[in-house]
Amino acid sequence: MRQLRARRRRLAAGLSDMEALLRGTVVSQGRRCGKESCRCASGELHGPYTYLNVPRPGRRARLVYVPTRLAETVAGQVAVAGRVEALLAEISAINTELLARRAPG
Ligand SMILES: [Zn+2]
Repeated sequence: MRQLRARRRRLAAGLSDMEALLRGTVVSQGRRCGKESCRCASGELHGPYTYLNVPRPGRRARLVYVPTRLAETVAGQVAVAGRVEALLAEISAINTELLARRAPG
């Protein structure tokens, strides 16, 4: 159990960059502009453009446009969210194991 707690401490130390996290998925999509006479009306879409797709429970996902100059920053922030979520899952698994051994905390 000492080992589990030491591992948990190391995992928690990895949560220091949480301010930079961004949940969602980077997607690339073509767009219609809405003008009837435009080439996009017959399927030749504008773009593709980059968006952050943010799932919202019980609602339609939010799509946020990502300008090219911000794409790298956003990709980095999305990667941080993935790491943080993996760390949280591991810490929770350790706490579950400690509880199963009747030694939470
Ligand atoms: Zn168009």
